[in-house]
Amino acid sequence: MHYIDNNATSPLRPESLSAVTQALAIGGNPSSVHGAGRAARAVMEEARDKVAALVGAKSEQVIFTSGATESCALALFGAAEGSLEGDASRITRVFVSAVEHKAVMKGAGRLAERFTWVHLTVLPVNADGVLDLEALRVALREGKGRALVAVMAANNEIGVIQPIAEVSRLVREAGGLLLVDAVPAAGKIDLDFSLCDYMVLSAHKMGGPLGSGALVVAGGVPLAPQLVGGGHQRGLRAGSENLSGIAGFGAAAQSLRDAQGERDRVKHLRDHFEAALKAAIPEAVIFGEKAPRLCSTSGFAIPGVIATTALMALDMDGVMMSSGSTCSSGKVAVSPVLAAMGVEEALANCALRASFGWSSTMEDVNAAVASLVKLHERVSGKEAA
Ligand code: PLP
Repeated sequence: MHYIDNNATSPLRPESLSAVTQALAIGGNPSSVHGAGRAARAVMEEARDKVAALVGAKSEQVIFTSGATESCALALFGAAEGSLEGDASRITRVFVSAVEHKAVMKGAGRLAERFTWVHLTVLPVNADGVLDLEALRVALREGKGRALVAVMAANNEIGVIQPIAEVSRLVREAGGLLLVDAVPAAGKIDLDFSLCDYMVLSAHKMGGPLGSGALVVAGGVPLAPQLVGGGHQRGLRAGSENLSGIAGFGAAAQSLRDAQGERDRVKHLRDHFEAALKAAIPEAVIFGEKAPRLCSTSGFAIPGVIATTALMALDMDGVMMSSGSTCSSGKVAVSPVLAAMGVEEALANCALRASFGWSSTMEDVNAAVASLVKLHERVSGKEAA
């Protein structure tokens, strides 16, 4: 089996698995004052320290959640609702880049529907998927009221890295707030939390367990809790914490900091995959090729090889990847990310994603390339016949 779908979910790291099982054995609730509770809390706080360290944040800024989707909702709704309280200035404008994940895109859409005074604007990207900074500059100048801007650190489909330092400067100059979805980028590039106000993380994209994530929140920015009940996590996210998920998340974050050579190794595999693919199939297209990209991700297309067919053929050869398009009710929907980059529909229908990670090997790369080349020969042979 050749698993090359780390951006969908990354296999559990051994250190993370061990932390999960050890935490499950504790059997205490971090909120309990007795010995088992204190032991559970110690594990949770150690994990919080490790997650904070990964992004250069303070431990008390980390709120554990059930994953990045919840973190995005908490940031968007929590910021908007929190800005209505006290003398905070009200968020009236929300800007999102056109390549955001659905958790941000749909969350922001719903926010604008529910909070009728909030105006939502989608910001364009260039042909490589990089945010148009001039469009952001102009947008921030127009209109009144506080702005909340959401720009991901790097894209999950094509790996393109966004200019967060420049975005941060523009947002801060305009007195706005910045939300950075760092899900695919965490551990693959250095992240500096001090550049933003809210940062979204997910454990399972970095070799931790599914169903565990975090929202990192700067001091003094608005955040109204979206789950209320007990006073967990400073009253910002009620509910007994998922201790094993949190422990596994912390261990994954620590591994990423320890594994200094991992980025280079993963990049070598990704680069080898792209070079071998292009050598065999020169018309293959790599999306976002001219922009800085994550070491892990290759969004690509082989013209004429439809992605849904390719995924099945790859799977038969034991190679697991993702497509850039989704098929629902018998219709293929083109990826909004590729559409925003101006990729033509015929090519977008051929979009695939190979995403490498800590467990990937050169055998995986070779198997993927061999399978794609075989498929391409079959498809082009059919066309010629
Ligand atoms: N943001 C990005 C960029 C993602 O890639 C994903 C998952 O694919 C999410 C958010 C949602 O993550 P989770 O599965 O933890 O809810």
